[in-house]
Order: sequence, then structure tokens, then C-alpha cells
Amino acid sequence: MAAEGGATTMLVAGGTDLYPNLKRRQFAADTLVGLTHLPELRAIGGDAAGGCTVGAAVTLSAAARHPDLPAGYAEAAALVSSPALRNAGTIGGNLCVDTRCNYYNQSQEWRKAIGYCMKKDGDICLVAPSSPRCWAVSSSDTAPVAIALGGTVVLVGAEGERELPVAALYRDDGIDYLQKQPWEVVTALRLPPAGGVRSAYVKLRRRGSIDFPIAGCGVALRMDGDTVEWARVVLSGVGSHPVEARGADELLAGRRLDEELITAAAAAAAKPAKPLDNADLSYVWRKRMVRVVVEEALRKAAAR
Ligand SMILES: Cc1cc2nc3c(=O)[nH]c(=O)nc-3n(C[C@H](O)[C@H](O)[C@H](O)COP(=O)(O)OP(=O)(O)OC[C@H]3O[C@@H](n4cnc5c(N)ncnc54)[C@H](O)[C@@H]3O)c2cc1C
Ligand code: SF4
Repeated sequence: MAAEGGATTMLVAGGTDLYPNLKRRQFAADTLVGLTHLPELRAIGGDAAGGCTVGAAVTLSAAARHPDLPAGYAEAAALVSSPALRNAGTIGGNLCVDTRCNYYNQSQEWRKAIGYCMKKDGDICLVAPSSPRCWAVSSSDTAPVAIALGGTVVLVGAEGERELPVAALYRDDGIDYLQKQPWEVVTALRLPPAGGVRSAYVKLRRRGSIDFPIAGCGVALRMDGDTVEWARVVLSGVGSHPVEARGADELLAGRRLDEELITAAAAAAAKPAKPLDNADLSYVWRKRMVRVVVEEALRKAAAR
């Protein structure tokens, strides 16, 4: 149905992001294909030892309290928006959530008054007017930890089924931010066996009760005593896609995790973070705070 509907058809799960965006005329959909009543999409299968499959229509609340999901992943789900929105919002919707920008997440009247921007109805970027691209910010809380843990997503479309690493779902583009056809449905997230991997998610936002991340860090690491065997550090809220901090991963591997290494890894992780003046609070301060959230996430994961 979604493939036949064309450009004006959109998939909807909990609708917690899509419906407010529709009301502000950020999308021009005339047909919605609902996903939450598909029972196959609503289950969590497997266990920590053998790996888990999380149906895309599982709510964030259900994921947050599931005992077999990695601690960092459940923690990220528990930190999305507010309790009411977590009861409706889903894992698939969170992975596919639209990118955000202060000049775009506004009413149509507001956007019209400033002449619109290239993400919807206009042709320039109001944050970086000389830029040929949109820098709207990837703001999913669960995507960074899913990437750090080596998760994969299952996609089903008119052409059949395919599975790809969560990281490969994203493009560094504020408008065309997903590497999938609009009609392809994310049916599940697969997380590999725990295998001694520890994980954590730390999030910075203005109000702890509801706001999107303005800097977040998902960490997965495996330790041998005090030494890091391997680590993956992934950031949210600092680019148009979840940003993999590979410099930090390389620095951490094979070294003793002490405060000096944590400071150095956080500095390396902050390098690819490019906050712009299009989200809450000062972008200069947000850039500085990336180090702090990375340090906290590393300490928290190691202590688990
Ligand atoms: C006030 C407020 C605060 C919020 N705070 C946060 C926050 O802190 N962190 C955060 O990450 N999000 C936040 N959100 C956004 C949203 O609530 C969550 O991201 C939620 O997980 C979205 O899930 P959903 O099922 O409601 O998605 P929907 O709104 O139904 O859909 C979101 C997008 O994903 C697509 N989609 C949904 N499911 C699928 C699927 N299975 N396959 C393919 N495409 C799909 C839709 O077409 C749409 O483009 C907030 C929203 C509001 C209104
Ligand atoms: S980054 Fe630029 S183009 Fe993208 S939504 Fe913001 S103002 Fe519009």
C-alpha cells in the first residue's frame, strides 16, 4: 500500500513525531499507513545471551523496562521525551524520527514569515545560507546505542526483505536522512548477544522531563579487567546522522581505562561533533558539553 501510494503516502507508528509535524505542515502527506496493529511488529524475542529481536512497533516504555535488553539501550529508550509519549512512541519510529532544526520545527505561519528553508517549501538554509545542504539534526536517542552495540535493522518493502547495520540506515543529510525507500518498513531491530558487552547512554537536554537531546552519547565496550578490549562511541544531536566517534574507539582499544584515558577519548570523540546554531542553547556550549557526556557515558558503561 505504501509503495503504491507514492510521495504523498507516509508510514505512521505511534505518531508522536509525525502528527505534530503534520499539523505544522512540515509534511504534505494525504495518506497514512498505520503499523501499530501488526502483531508481528509488537514483540521482543530472544534473550541477552543469544541476542534480542525488538519489533519495530514495540513501545519505548516496553523496551525501557525489558530485562533482556542491554542496559544502555533500555536507558536510552527510557530517556526519550516524556512518559505519555513513550507509551505511544515506538522503536521503529524512534530510529526513523525526522531530523530537527529551530527554523523547521515551527508552525507554517512562522516558517512563512521568515521565507521558509530548503527542508520544506524554501530554497536556502537559514542556518548556513551559503551551504548547498540542510544541517537539520539527527535527534534519535536510541539510534546511537543501537549502533554502538552493533545492531541491525530489518527492512521490508515491495521488493522483499533486507537487513543492514543500524549505522547504514542513515545519511549525512538533514533532508534525505534515511538510506531506505519511503515505503520500506523497519520491522525489527536486532541486537547481538551480550557477550560481556557493557553499555550506557547519557543525554544532555534543557528539561529532563521531555526535551530532545542537544548532545547525547551511546557507548558499548568490552573490558578485560581494567583494560578496554574494544569500544564504540556514538553521538546524538550533533550532526544530521548519529555520529560515530571512531577516533575515540581507536584510542580506547587495548588501553587501561583510567581518568586520563577517559579525558583523552572524550576529546577525540568531540572532534567530529558539529553542533550548529539550529538547536536549543548555545552551540559553542553544546560542543564543549559533548566531552562531558562522553566522559559520563564511558564511566557509566565501565561501572556496569
Ligand atoms: C514533545 C516531544 C518530545 C520528544 N522528545 C524526544 C526525545 O527526547 N528523543 C527522541 O528520540 N524523540 C523525541 N520525540 C520524538 C518521538 O516522540 C520519538 O522519536 C518516538 O520514538 C517516535 O516514534 P513514533 O512511533 O511515535 O513515530 P511516528 O511519529 O509514528 O513516526 C516517526 C517517523 O518514523 C517513520 N516510521 C515510524 N515507524 C516506522 C517503521 N516501522 N518503519 C519505517 N518508518 C517508520 C514515520 O513515517 C515518521 O517519518 C519527541 C516528540 C515530542 C512531541
Ligand atoms: S538546517 Fe537549514 S535547511 Fe535544514 S531545516 Fe535548518 S534552516 Fe532549514
